[in-house]
Amino acid sequence: MAQRLTYRRRLAYNTKSNKVRISKTPGGNLRYLHIKKAGKIPNCGDCGIKLAGIPALRPREFSQVSRRVKTVQRAYGGSRCANCVKDRVVRAFLVEEAKIVKKVLKAQQEAQKAVKK
Ligand SMILES: [Zn+2]
Repeated sequence: MAQRLTYRRRLAYNTKSNKVRISKTPGGNLRYLHIKKAGKIPNCGDCGIKLAGIPALRPREFSQVSRRVKTVQRAYGGSRCANCVKDRVVRAFLVEEAKIVKKVLKAQQEAQKAVKK
């Protein structure tokens, strides 16, 4: 028994938001079932890899779920990957260390000048 499948929406174009799959109803009829657009996992803002521990959701769904779902409990969690955060921490530490070294060297030079005079 051949059954003609008909669209139930008036969007006629083969767009991303107009994808369908065929589903059998409990009554044995075949119907088009509209497929929702796939979500996307957020990327690291520095290196661009997908962030671990964060689900792939549509933008609206992200706005509807709670904060703990969208982030991980770390500085820059949910925005930068663990390796990039590590790099940032190390870089900041080295910058601070370099400042201290500079300060110490300057103090030593001034002490030597004072001795010469
Ligand atoms: Zn990264």
